[in-house]
Amino acid sequence: MLDGDEALAARIRAIQERIDAAASRSRRAPSSVRLVAVSKTMPAAVIAAAVRAGHALFGENRVQEAADKIAAVSALEPDRYLAWHLVGHLQSNKAKAAVGLFELIHSVDGLELAGRLDRSAAAAGKVQGILLQVNVASEATKSGVSPEALFPLTDAVLALPHLALRGLMTIPPHESDPEGSRRHFAELRRLGERVRASAGLGAETPPGEVPAASWELSMGMTEDFEIAIEEGATLVRVGRAIFGERG
Ligand SMILES: *Cc1c(COP(=O)(O)O)cnc(C)c1O
Repeated sequence: MLDGDEALAARIRAIQERIDAAASRSRRAPSSVRLVAVSKTMPAAVIAAAVRAGHALFGENRVQEAADKIAAVSALEPDRYLAWHLVGHLQSNKAKAAVGLFELIHSVDGLELAGRLDRSAAAAGKVQGILLQVNVASEATKSGVSPEALFPLTDAVLALPHLALRGLMTIPPHESDPEGSRRHFAELRRLGERVRASAGLGAETPPGEVPAASWELSMGMTEDFEIAIEEGATLVRVGRAIFGERG
């Protein structure tokens, strides 16, 4: 291993330990929180080093950049199974490419995009996992569906047979004190509970039947992932604390 590889591996271990501690503090199983290593802008060689350190779940925010790097990282580490998530905004005209690349798309925020993803998934013969991105504070400049529009969007998405709604995601307003994000994370969790109840998702599994996939809350980044875990996050999206500042 190169020195840089060692340092990266140590940073991933340190973040994982902080995740485990935050989960334990909240009386949650550490395995109920997954770390999405947000590798946007990082070159394939750096991502490959994270793979050699044992990490297998990465988040990207641009479809074309991800397509190039997924191919490059797979060529560098051909024997590892890797999962890629799209965490950034998705334009409808990139839906088809996205379906071919990502296990989970965190950023679905409207019916036009959902419809395109559904048709692309049908054509590809797959069911695409998605999260609905919620603009919890209804900020004018931010993508995501407003809390009020979330319920009708959920109903429409559930009618699309090639999409699997797996949960909600948010990027809360910027706060100078990370504690300020707590109420937004709590709000996403409350919305998630209401969505599940109104859509009949998350009911108890009858004996003998296969349980539905777990419900995800994607929230928390470098500055506030521990607070997000305390408020129920199951996917934390961490970039800079793993890879360093982006250039
Ligand atoms: C870049 C990005 C992250 C990671 O942010 P860091 O501050 O580097 O941890 C998480 N989520 C989304 C949607 C991003 O675009």
